[in-house]
Amino acid sequence: MATVQDNLLDWLRDAHAMEQQAESMLKGQAERLEHYPQLKARIVQHIEETQGQQRLLLECIERLGGSTSTLKDLAGKLMAFGQAVGGMVMSDEVVKGAMSGYVFENMEIASYTVLIEAAEAAGDNATAEACRSILKEEEAMAQWLKEHLPEITRAFLARSADPDAEAKR
Ligand code: MG
Ligand code: FE
Repeated sequence: MATVQDNLLDWLRDAHAMEQQAESMLKGQAERLEHYPQLKARIVQHIEETQGQQRLLLECIERLGGSTSTLKDLAGKLMAFGQAVGGMVMSDEVVKGAMSGYVFENMEIASYTVLIEAAEAAGDNATAEACRSILKEEEAMAQWLKEHLPEITRAFLARSADPDAEAKR
């Protein structure tokens, strides 16, 4: 059996690993983007938010008397590395990257929705509050990507059809 607190702590560790993965994915995208300055700027903003989220999660984990799992963090880093390498061989990486970003943000939204409920069930108001503030940032990022996907697609298609332009990033 596992107490509500045990589950909460596990899920906070999962979220911390997820945010480390998010950071390396976002950094990989931001470093490679050249011709899509608006997308790049929004990603750079979200890198800072993601680092703040990691700090908040760490505070929650430490308050509950836990430590972060090195194994999960490592697994996340390896996965992110694989995804970054995968992105390099795609001729439409800006579009695939924005799509993956949208999927990832929605996974984060699901994770924090679960965490808020678990924190409330554990009577841990500070963790619930931290997760609510993180959730707002994930929702804003998901919303931005959804709103800008059509524009990114149009810009990619125009650059793709232009023999003098590089489209992929
Ligand atoms: Mg995040
Ligand atoms: Fe996010």
